[in-house]
Amino acid sequence: MKSIAWGAKSALSRLERMEIERPDPRDHELVIEVLYTGVCHSDIHQVKNEWKNTVYPCVPGHEIVGRVKSAGAKTSRFREGDMVGVGCMIDSCRSCEPCKAGDQNYCEGPNSWLATYNGPMTPAAETGDGENAYGAQYDNTFGGYSDTVIVPEDFVLALPEGLDPKAAAPILCAGVTTWSPLKHWGVDKGDHVAVLGFGGLGHMAVKLAKGLGCTVTVLTSTPDKLEEAKRLGADNAVIETDKTALAEYEAAFDFILSTVPEKHEVGPLLDLLKRDGQFVVVGNLDVIDGVDNMTLASKRAGVSGSLIGNLKETQDVLDFCAANGIAPEVELIPIEQINDAFVKVENGEVRYRYVIDMQSLA
Ligand SMILES: [Zn+2]
Ligand SMILES: [Zn+2]
Repeated sequence: MKSIAWGAKSALSRLERMEIERPDPRDHELVIEVLYTGVCHSDIHQVKNEWKNTVYPCVPGHEIVGRVKSAGAKTSRFREGDMVGVGCMIDSCRSCEPCKAGDQNYCEGPNSWLATYNGPMTPAAETGDGENAYGAQYDNTFGGYSDTVIVPEDFVLALPEGLDPKAAAPILCAGVTTWSPLKHWGVDKGDHVAVLGFGGLGHMAVKLAKGLGCTVTVLTSTPDKLEEAKRLGADNAVIETDKTALAEYEAAFDFILSTVPEKHEVGPLLDLLKRDGQFVVVGNLDVIDGVDNMTLASKRAGVSGSLIGNLKETQDVLDFCAANGIAPEVELIPIEQINDAFVKVENGEVRYRYVIDMQSLA
């Protein structure tokens, strides 16, 4: 099946319009017309091969909102015309312990979960039987910078009524990436949460934690964002290196969520945790510098990582946003502006998430 997409042909090339071949839909899959796709920092890392595993051409996009165009014979949840979402993964092994427990995002199968783009790790051509670990014949997946995606029905999320489709797109990665740790560590009404970094992930974390009834303090390196953070719901906002201001927050936080998209020193911030507090890093997958176990042990605190969220959590956060009137701050762009948008995301200039209007692909 031919599909129109925007992708990169190499680590050094800009994104450009291209025609890609998608495998024919299988019985348990939905063909989805893509309407809106959010621009995630991961898209840029992947396009530029910053994780050293990119297969080209690379068509990114894993915050996808669309409409079901056709449903395979063995599907039952969705019908033609339904509004749906697709996030970071489109399949997993389905048989390992995490998959059986519903944690597909921690799949321990031979290929782990299948990324919406730039998957699978072992292409069909190299497995010996012509099929990849998900029983399909393709060597690479192409994401939502495209007019169409084809996804197994059980990895598709229902878009609840009451959510603006274009604003919903970033919930599928930025939203669930911040929601999952909040829920996993039992953050709840009355807790004091600090959000480190106030970009795509950070501004969603603030809205979700406020929605849960928490007190929220933003720690940012950008003076311009102090007022904006409060405008978007934070109770307090502080420059993260302002020692005088931070002294007020010593042992104040039940939970600190780091959404900074690069390697970041955490040491001084651990003093801000309460007893049994958690410092969770979702913004980057690099070495965590500055963890002093004397600080942690003296308050039984933890430093943890967390990777996106499972399917149930993704549906939950969509439903939670719809029920509580929560939506990301988005700026709609035509696909022609994607290369400029990448630069602005890298420079931290986006407020707060670009969403591509796929009508512009026609
Ligand atoms: Zn993402
Ligand atoms: Zn699995």
